[in-house]
Amino acid sequence: MTITDVSSLLPIITKSELPPVDKARATALALNYPSQWENFDGNIVATEMELKVEMKNCNGWVLAGIIDTLAERDGEYIMIEHKTRSGDVDNVGDGYYRRLAHDMQITMYHILLECNGYPVEQTIYDVVRKLTTLCRRIPAGKMGDENVKVGSRAEMCKLGSYHGMDLDGKDLAWLAAYMEKLAVDDTLEPLKESPKLYGLRMAVAIAERPEKYFKQYGQIRRSYEEVEHALAGLRQVCQQIDATDPTDLAVWPMNTAQCNSYGTACEFMDVCAGVQDINGDQYQDRKQRSCPKELSHSKLCSYHGCKRKYHYRYNMGKEHVRQRAPALEFGSVMHLYFAAYFDMKKNG
Ligand code: SF4
Repeated sequence: MTITDVSSLLPIITKSELPPVDKARATALALNYPSQWENFDGNIVATEMELKVEMKNCNGWVLAGIIDTLAERDGEYIMIEHKTRSGDVDNVGDGYYRRLAHDMQITMYHILLECNGYPVEQTIYDVVRKLTTLCRRIPAGKMGDENVKVGSRAEMCKLGSYHGMDLDGKDLAWLAAYMEKLAVDDTLEPLKESPKLYGLRMAVAIAERPEKYFKQYGQIRRSYEEVEHALAGLRQVCQQIDATDPTDLAVWPMNTAQCNSYGTACEFMDVCAGVQDINGDQYQDRKQRSCPKELSHSKLCSYHGCKRKYHYRYNMGKEHVRQRAPALEFGSVMHLYFAAYFDMKKNG
């Protein structure tokens, strides 16, 4: 098996705004990612494919979505959706996979693809585990041994490698400076991995047990009935939105059960708590505003989750000025990398 050289794609990660440890984590995953897709025998048709379709008998509403990757094999289309998660990826019996299997997003994307001439045979979720471990202290190892301990200072000094991966001149200079200090001060704190060394260790760990970090969860299909039921539900949502006055705050109720979804505070919390004004300087006009009659999966989730949030976000077109949460940034950078990798596959 030939593994694609992804070095030209790594600047997506190394030049991103991620903190150094997250860059190391993302790089370790990125280096191992091609091994999961090298044997995929489908042809890549498109990545980041923006699709729209007007819903029939629905007062001008349009369904919209961006498909991560579309492939074709033997005349059948396969949708590939990329996901990053912090938990285990190898237990397909857990709730995470059960939810993915019936996720409305996939049903909407099946409809979008079908109506645009790409009938989907199956969806494959491409799930990648986000690393959550940290840089650790490097054990001294036995400097006198012939066979030095892997991942020790002895390995670095004697072999110029860490976990079998070659160190560069900068790493060696950093090590030499530490050893010089240690020679005159034996109370010196143990050497701690730099983000780069941590990334090397993780790259090796992932290569040894890729099943812990990558999962392709496929054979997800949608029946005619499922699509019909989904369309009926989507039409209902569109009719409800059309029937609700977009200028009357009172008819867009709060759902406080959603204020801390996935452990992240809602961006409109301060407004709902009465300490900020939605028209104040903590809020700005959304940079990417969709057409008011466009229904995406995120818009649908927002509507179902909290109507007040939908109102602020989509009727008023507001967003908080703060930067996005680090976990979201990690997922976004990885998504850019996955798209670039499949683009590379598409272009041969
Ligand atoms: S908009 Fe909804 S989810 Fe957000 S803080 Fe207000 S009540 Fe909570």
